[in-house]
Amino acid sequence: MTKIRFATVWLAGCSGCHMSFLDLDEWLLELAQHVDVVYSPVGSDIKEYPDNVDVCWVEGGVANEDNLELIHQVRAKTKLLVSFGDCAVTANVPGMRNMLGGVEPVLKRAYLELGDVTPQLPDEPGIVPPLLDQVRPVHEIVNVDLFIPGCPPSADRIKATLEPLLRGEMPQMVGREMIKFG
Ligand code: SF4
Repeated sequence: MTKIRFATVWLAGCSGCHMSFLDLDEWLLELAQHVDVVYSPVGSDIKEYPDNVDVCWVEGGVANEDNLELIHQVRAKTKLLVSFGDCAVTANVPGMRNMLGGVEPVLKRAYLELGDVTPQLPDEPGIVPPLLDQVRPVHEIVNVDLFIPGCPPSADRIKATLEPLLRGEMPQMVGREMIKFG
């Protein structure tokens, strides 16, 4: 049996969507019979996003230059890109900073006004990626093939999405169990 080359990516999110993935518990063993995990923040330490990925689930919004570079790589090298969780689908929690009106007021508020001991702006070129002016949902940057809302999506919803994908079918994202936000 040819295994699906499967990846997951963590952009600007809290990792709760990935934690929900791990809530699949023993079903992960069944999943492992059908997929090769070729890139993921969970259970692997692969630094470069590989070529020829069949399916990639992306958690989080696009918030900084590193996120932006990675999501373009992901799109170019992936057949089916899944926007995984409310932060990927709408920008959600990381997007709350958008209402402050850009990078400068956000950094000033977080690191100067609320910096109790040694207020200073983070500035380590090559280490701390510059923030984008606005946090954007994934589909505003690249084409997305499938949306899975939820904060986080439940393990049941994740499983109900994965099962048809493993059969080579697109899941039907209809009904409260599959598309409710939050
Ligand atoms: S959608 Fe919710 S659980 Fe997932 S990364 Fe965003 S805040 Fe965390």
